[in-house]
Amino acid sequence: MFRQNSLDIGHLMAIAQLDEAKRRFRRIKPGDVFEVTHDAGEIISLYSKLDLTSALQIDRLDDGFTAKIIDRPIEIRKRHAYGVIESSLFESAAQAGLSDRTIMNVAGIFAWDVDFILDIRSGDNYYVQYEEIWQDGEFVTDGEIIAAEFNNNGRQIQAIRFKDKENVTDYFTPDGDSVRKAFIRAPVDFTRISSNFNPKRRHPILNTIRAHRGVDYAAPRGTPIKAAGDGKVIFRGTKSGYGKVVILQHGGNITTLYAHMSSYAAKARVGTRVRQGQTIGYVGMTGLATANHLHYEYRLNGVHRNPRTVALPDAEPINAEYRQQFLAEAAPILEELENFKKTQVASIAFSAQ
Ligand SMILES: [Zn+2]
Repeated sequence: MFRQNSLDIGHLMAIAQLDEAKRRFRRIKPGDVFEVTHDAGEIISLYSKLDLTSALQIDRLDDGFTAKIIDRPIEIRKRHAYGVIESSLFESAAQAGLSDRTIMNVAGIFAWDVDFILDIRSGDNYYVQYEEIWQDGEFVTDGEIIAAEFNNNGRQIQAIRFKDKENVTDYFTPDGDSVRKAFIRAPVDFTRISSNFNPKRRHPILNTIRAHRGVDYAAPRGTPIKAAGDGKVIFRGTKSGYGKVVILQHGGNITTLYAHMSSYAAKARVGTRVRQGQTIGYVGMTGLATANHLHYEYRLNGVHRNPRTVALPDAEPINAEYRQQFLAEAAPILEELENFKKTQVASIAFSAQ
């Protein structure tokens, strides 16, 4: 690459000795751009982007070269969008000018409350306030959702972003309640439900009537199994028919059980705390199983409940330490959302005339 431009080999060697340059050259891949200023091959400076917010800058001095990492400032622009659903969320998003990525994020925020396949009605609508990332006057990508409102079949749900001091993003209602639930409904990305919760099922292998006290989610071997909620690993090992099993203890006297794993996640050892969504093991067919699947059980006060229909507890509201800050930040965001809604309603009324 450098030879094609007949650059001074001595200069290149000197530059390649600099630590910052060494690190950059080690990660070189096709398509990377190096901007070189030179005078008949004598290198004056070299510039190359490292990531979205930094770049490598090399300059010639009298007695060699210096390298430094420089900031590439980004600019965050706020955007609003309004969408009305006729048939599907994704179709409406295209009309509202929202990218796939942003509408996925919207769906993710409300997924705890709205089933975007089953609950959607024609006329449902939503407002989104989100970030766009710009750099040097050019659009780079969509950023996070700042706030969103979903009007589903006459029901209004609002979610506002909050970033804590560790920069962890979460979404809350205007009152500071979590928009999430304390449990994920299905703790694996499944291809289909191969067996439902059924107190009087005929067992496929034993051919006797035996209660099926969980739900079977078919998924390829090795698919990650997620902790349904925050909790503690109280059992990890083999239980005859269940094969490799993990049992988690959660608050509110709830336990969840995950069976037929091919293997466990190394970090999910007995006695350790796990976070909601953390991988605790992988789908397999150990124990009595005819195909790869996760057998998942949910127990409340020791009683098996149907994981697909049990009323899930809400996730914890905003931490008391952040409550005042959240309410103070949420107020102007909600006001902006309200103002934007008014302009949308006005423009629709206008275009209908
Ligand atoms: Zn099962």
